[in-house]
Amino acid sequence: MRPAEASCTRHRSHVRPELECTCGLHAVESPDELRRTRDPAVLGTVALWGWIVEHEHGFRAALAYPQRLRLLCYLCFTLWGRNGPGDCEVVVRHRGGRMVPLCEPHLELSRRYGYRVPRILSARAIESELLATYAVDPLRELFPANGKTAEPVSA
Ligand SMILES: [Zn+2]
Ligand SMILES: [Zn+2]
Repeated sequence: MRPAEASCTRHRSHVRPELECTCGLHAVESPDELRRTRDPAVLGTVALWGWIVEHEHGFRAALAYPQRLRLLCYLCFTLWGRNGPGDCEVVVRHRGGRMVPLCEPHLELSRRYGYRVPRILSARAIESELLATYAVDPLRELFPANGKTAEPVSA
C-alpha cells in the first residue's frame, strides 16, 4: 500500500530519475513495448509522480503506484502482444521463488518438451491476492473478449 520509490545503483546522491542516467521507475505508453522485457508476468497501468523524465516510448519516474493490473501468460504476450489470447490459468513457481504465469496450452507444451514444471498455483488466486495487496481493480480494457482490438476510448 506504499508507492514504489526510484533508487539508483550508479549514483546514490543524484536526483532520481536523473536525465542522463537510466534510473527511475520505468513505464511505457504501449503495452507492446513490454514484449521485449524479461518474463513479462503482470501487466497494468500505473500512476507516476515526482520527478519524471519523458522518453520517446515512455517515462522514468521518481514514484509510482499501480492503478490496474492483471496476470498474463508471458509466452502468449511475448509472441502476440496485447492481441494474443492473454488469459492465463496457472502460475508456475520455480525454485528460488520466481513465478511465471502460463495459459493451459503453454503449460501443456512445456510438459510435452520435457520441461520440469516445479509447482503450479492457481492464476486466479494469485491475481486476487495481487489486487487485494495493492487495493486496485483488474485491468480489462486492453484485452477485450474478442482479443483482437483495444476498446475505443469514450469521451
Ligand atoms: Zn541514476
Ligand atoms: Zn500462453
